[in-house]
Amino acid sequence: MSYDYRSEDLTTSLVFRLHEGTPEVVRNVLLERGWVEYDEEEQDENDWNLYWRSGFTSAEYENIMPWQRLIHYPKIVGITRKDNLARNLKRMSGIYGSTIYNFSPTAFILPNDYTKFVAEYTRDKKANGGKLGYWICKPVDLSRGRGIFIFQDIKDLSYSCSVIVQKYISNPLLISGYTFDLRIYVCVTSFCPLIVYIYQEGLVRFGTEKYSLATLDNVYAHLTNTSINRFGPSYTTDKERVGSGCKWTMSQFRAFLHSLNINELLMWQRISNIVTMTLLTITPSIPSPPNCLELFGFDILIDDNIKPWLLEVNYSPALIVDCNADVIVKKALVYDLIDLLNYKEVDTLRQRGYPTPWKYNALSRSHPSFCVTNSFKNVPRLHLNTSRRAFMNPSKETGSTTQNNSLLYFQRSCCRSNMYNQGEDQEMDSQKAEEESKFRVSKESFSHFPHFTVYNSGKNLKKVYSSLGASSGCCSDSKECSKNVKLIKLLPKKTVTSQLREKMNKSYVRTQNPMNQVMLETRTAQSVGHLSKMGPRFSSVNLQKYKLASIPLYSISDIDKKPMNRIGDFILTFPFNEVTLKASQDPLNLRTIMQELQKMQKILQEPKNAKRKSESQRPGSFDRKGSFGSFLWGPRNPPLLSEYCFQK
Ligand code: ADP
Repeated sequence: MSYDYRSEDLTTSLVFRLHEGTPEVVRNVLLERGWVEYDEEEQDENDWNLYWRSGFTSAEYENIMPWQRLIHYPKIVGITRKDNLARNLKRMSGIYGSTIYNFSPTAFILPNDYTKFVAEYTRDKKANGGKLGYWICKPVDLSRGRGIFIFQDIKDLSYSCSVIVQKYISNPLLISGYTFDLRIYVCVTSFCPLIVYIYQEGLVRFGTEKYSLATLDNVYAHLTNTSINRFGPSYTTDKERVGSGCKWTMSQFRAFLHSLNINELLMWQRISNIVTMTLLTITPSIPSPPNCLELFGFDILIDDNIKPWLLEVNYSPALIVDCNADVIVKKALVYDLIDLLNYKEVDTLRQRGYPTPWKYNALSRSHPSFCVTNSFKNVPRLHLNTSRRAFMNPSKETGSTTQNNSLLYFQRSCCRSNMYNQGEDQEMDSQKAEEESKFRVSKESFSHFPHFTVYNSGKNLKKVYSSLGASSGCCSDSKECSKNVKLIKLLPKKTVTSQLREKMNKSYVRTQNPMNQVMLETRTAQSVGHLSKMGPRFSSVNLQKYKLASIPLYSISDIDKKPMNRIGDFILTFPFNEVTLKASQDPLNLRTIMQELQKMQKILQEPKNAKRKSESQRPGSFDRKGSFGSFLWGPRNPPLLSEYCFQK
């Protein structure tokens, strides 16, 4: 690979790639931050760091390079299409109870659910003494308020495409008579474990005419879409308290809540729970390719009892800047989103090129780039004789030092992703070893990652080892492994100097980033003459250089190895303690997560000045040690969860 053609800018800057329709604010922020735009004619097809587009093909997810980030996850349509969202929420409500999943208005997908809708419509009418309730009908795959109407009488319901009919929240909280909803920006940096950040700023979107149930067909009074209200006759009018236009920032809204003496924290926590519980509906089904990020726009309506309702979840929330509130919120949002990617200014990985795509396994929820701990108990091991499922799960049977944890953690990931993607046609030589191993191990895969660790609970370690083409250097370490689990380091000891090995280990501990490690390993191998076919050669001297230019794992705090509590104005809302962190890994423990969410809500509901029992006595109290200093999302300077929940 030759990069001679590249300008100095290209070799020293991060490179972004945008789709034609990407809002200008994205380009502007990236350019302001010193990034350079990708040039298709000039550059190699993988010579970029960030691709911002409305969606990606599975091949693009599969062939992602270690230095690249895609701005979407696959399969998130499970919550971003109105009918899927309704279906998924109904399913979760069936499992975990309608008192937990009671944050979305009752919905029916028509035409399929027509009979059920009629039954509910009739029941509702009866319950209200013959008075008709209010319903809203929305096409399932349209956005920006298109095709939406509100009705009372079923004879006014007509549709020519698939729609959802939802209970209309007819008692919204009003500001000077105007209805509004909240646009909450949510960023998921990992689905396994689930890591969720909510942006502190956000938008409040108003209807531009006074709300009235007497005028159901007045879209400016009932719908809060900017795309509609921008064309309303009162858009530019200086409306009482709301002002001109149709948007506020979230900070303006907070000032309003203050003036009403509303228990803000409880409301924000409810919204945070809604976000988590909605994401959990799809978490088990999202394959986790590495290096992806998803920005969602959650639309929340607050009723006059200060209960938040989820209206919908938007994929690629609009980033068009067309008023002051947009300028304040969206530019900073994109800025902080870039920080979530956590690139250093100079990206050495891309510059040097890396020939093997970092493939992901479509069946797996787990992936390496977001592992949030270096504690060995949470690190899945590679068991040669195990099922795929068990392979994903942490094994309890071994213990190890931190250094080896990171090593294994990375190694497991590399091996797994390669095996799963190439395994079919590249079997092991030894039939017996294959029988033992239960799944196929590719010699080629291992040769890409020449010194990795394999755990095997069987006896034929040497056979497995030799079948993989390693000649010597097998070491089993009974201290690190339990009785029947042995450790093989396939990189022959002789070929790696102790100095280099020490450097590598230090680096694993320091960076905790498998993306770095994959490069580091490859290059280390090259430096000791192992993989001449694998890209540029590296010596132990430039290995040091490489380490300096490595990209740290972006959501991990250096101090406690937990997801960062705050990145810019993005506040970590999930996981919020050790229990939820553990429960959101593979296998996902939804019940435990629900319990923890409920506990926290209960604590927040307690009157602030109520006399608190001792922590251990209080039902639903958190383990202070386990709450890892998470913030309660919401107010501008959010209190620490531990401080708020444990204050005496
Ligand atoms: P779209 O994707 O077309 O914007 P939404 O579901 O967001 O569809 O609905 C558009 C607007 O209609 C919302 O912003 C809100 O103002 C209003 N709306 C939608 N559903 C409800 C509901 N169930 N109750 C009250 N208002 C609603």
